[in-house]
Amino acid sequence: MADILTTIQQSYSGYFNYLKNEILYPEWHNYFYWLLGISLAVWLLELLFPWRKQQAVFRKDFWLDGFYMFFNFFLFSLVGYNAISNIAVGLFNNALSAIGIRNLVAINVQSYPVWIQFAIMFIVADFIQWNIHRLLHKNKYLWEFHKVHHSVEQMGFAAHLRFHWMETVIYKTLQYIPLAMIGFGIQDFFIVHIVTVALGHLNHANINLTYGPLKYILNNPVMHLWHHAHHLPKGSYGMNFGLSLSLWDYLFKTAYIPDTNPYEPLGFEGIEKFPKTFIKHGIYPFIK
Ligand SMILES: [Zn+2]
Ligand SMILES: [Zn+2]
Repeated sequence: MADILTTIQQSYSGYFNYLKNEILYPEWHNYFYWLLGISLAVWLLELLFPWRKQQAVFRKDFWLDGFYMFFNFFLFSLVGYNAISNIAVGLFNNALSAIGIRNLVAINVQSYPVWIQFAIMFIVADFIQWNIHRLLHKNKYLWEFHKVHHSVEQMGFAAHLRFHWMETVIYKTLQYIPLAMIGFGIQDFFIVHIVTVALGHLNHANINLTYGPLKYILNNPVMHLWHHAHHLPKGSYGMNFGLSLSLWDYLFKTAYIPDTNPYEPLGFEGIEKFPKTFIKHGIYPFIK
């Protein structure tokens, strides 16, 4: 018990100091300024080359999504996730050693050159997340949480990080064991994270961008708009589940781009009655 309390206390103060240093001392390995920089860069691209020319610069829910961006990227970790995950990882490792398992490593990628480690991490993590994303659509309880992300009605870069905080818990928990098994542990893969954020911002941006033939590998704004489309093929629970890569959707036949209308209506059945504020979004799936 004392252990758990110390972990909580250390996580809070540790993370608070970390956040303070991030903001006060800019340097290249700095999440705060990278997020800010990527956001401004993608926003500038939206302003210079808008796909939906009639969409306002400060589109519907621009500020709500801006708040979500900082909440999900920083504050959620500050308030709780860091503490919860440190405890969970501690308990998990104790449980493993209690049954005589010292580590989970099935393939030790740490012996490979760094760029290969990055590539493996990027591809494997993306494939795991593609599966988790499908699960968020398929499972009716998880869908209630994921609806927050699908409540976006006008797309723009910041919509990327509009999601319920439970999604962070679900993704990180479900990907922890497979990633630990190939020897990644919970290491800080800074570059992978930054590339993922940049691609995610672009996928939600108001830009007509498909990367030419690379569209079969990389997810893009045109493809992801159809992930958010109100109208889906009959009987399907969703299409285009890709996060950074579109490859999985092409391989597993869930790619769907019937046309490239930039004004395709977004959302889901009953979106008119879906709550509109951050607090109500947070409570909604639990009472539903
Ligand atoms: Zn989705
Ligand atoms: Zn999305």
